[in-house]
Amino acid sequence: MAERLDQTDCVVIGGGVIGLAVARRLALLGREVVVLEQESLIGTHTSSRSNEVSHAGLYYRPDSPQAILCVAGHRLLEPYCAKHGIPYRTVGKLVVANGNDDLSWLEGIYENARNCGARGLEWLGGNAARDLEPELKCDAAIHSALTGIVDTHALMLAYQGEAEAHCASVAFQSRLLGACVTDTGFDLNIEAGDDTYNLGCDVLINAAGLWAVPIARSIEGTMQDDIPHVYFAKGAFFSLTGKSPFQRLIVPAQQWIRMGGIYTLDMAMRARFGPEEEWIEKVNYDIDPGRSATIYESVRRYWPSLEDGMLQPAYTGIRPRLNGPGEPMADWIIHGPAEHGTPGLVNLFGIESPGITSSLPISEVVAAMVDGLPFRDALDAQRVTD
Ligand SMILES: Cc1cc2nc3c(=O)[nH]c(=O)nc-3n(C[C@H](O)[C@H](O)[C@H](O)COP(=O)(O)OP(=O)(O)OC[C@H]3O[C@@H](n4cnc5c(N)ncnc54)[C@H](O)[C@@H]3O)c2cc1C
Repeated sequence: MAERLDQTDCVVIGGGVIGLAVARRLALLGREVVVLEQESLIGTHTSSRSNEVSHAGLYYRPDSPQAILCVAGHRLLEPYCAKHGIPYRTVGKLVVANGNDDLSWLEGIYENARNCGARGLEWLGGNAARDLEPELKCDAAIHSALTGIVDTHALMLAYQGEAEAHCASVAFQSRLLGACVTDTGFDLNIEAGDDTYNLGCDVLINAAGLWAVPIARSIEGTMQDDIPHVYFAKGAFFSLTGKSPFQRLIVPAQQWIRMGGIYTLDMAMRARFGPEEEWIEKVNYDIDPGRSATIYESVRRYWPSLEDGMLQPAYTGIRPRLNGPGEPMADWIIHGPAEHGTPGLVNLFGIESPGITSSLPISEVVAAMVDGLPFRDALDAQRVTD
């Protein structure tokens, strides 16, 4: 087995939207960066299996990392996409209520969204909502006019391109097997094809998505107590055969969200529904066509014209969740030297939705934490104040 010893400044584990955004940021700051990606392409896991929505920040707990970074990211994403020629459309979104239970839930979301700092919100009665979307059945809706959709692959390519233009490199088919803390940084053990080699680095960013927890556990010489448990929530998407009935995204109330009732559009304005969620133990992207049953039920509450046979299995994506079934949504965890005491190490745990929307401010937070800033201070620096 060939052995190779080398040394670099920063290593980012994971070539998804988060790892690439961080690599870009560190490279722009003049640091030498290598991204290790176990697959042969960027973003083949969670980053290519989402709704591709640029969220305005309606649902998160105010003051949580998700709320602060989503609101900041939403403001940054559209101009970034415009500058780099990345397809982005501000299509708008309606969150809809049918019945009294839904209405009180919707009122709570409206207040929550304003407390989060989401812009461009309007409360609509049923008729006003139907003026926008004539096929919609609802008693009331929140119109989020600034919600957008983004071509995530083009976004990742732009991050990669900017990083590489500033001398970063992405090593594909390069899987981190383990690491240990040394006097000067880290010694990484990497598998590349049939080969393994060691690479030294000063800074190590763990942006491995679904695998971030086992990777953090594999780094010898670090504090392990703050590594959380991660759960996997698999979401199934079904595409709509036929013409898209709505020009805006539609989100049903309450539990119907997770039961696959969300209507989103791709960049070609083709409609899909999902994710319809189930908890799983191991990563697998199989799709069970039978899961469309709850989607039909969820969608018909606001679009009764949906006919049997109109939904086709499309794809699945898996969220790394820090909360288990029935528990409230947990905050993202980003731990750096100020939190765990290991200089140069930043671990990102549970970066599920709205990770794409938040990718630019997350990269700022991580870059500040590399320099020793505590997470809460780095997060506060991203807070939108106007
Ligand atoms: C169903 C669903 C819908 C979503 N919808 C939205 C949405 O509409 N809007 C939004 O903003 N966000 C959304 N998200 C969230 C968003 O997709 C994620 O937050 C984001 O993609 C996470 O990116 P990542 O880079 O952390 O993870 P990933 O994209 O999974 O990247 C991690 C990378 O690390 C690599 N890796 C892992 N282990 C190793 C190793 N040992 N060595 C080398 N490489 C390794 C993997 O191969 C992978 O490429 C959604 C997520 C899901 C699942």
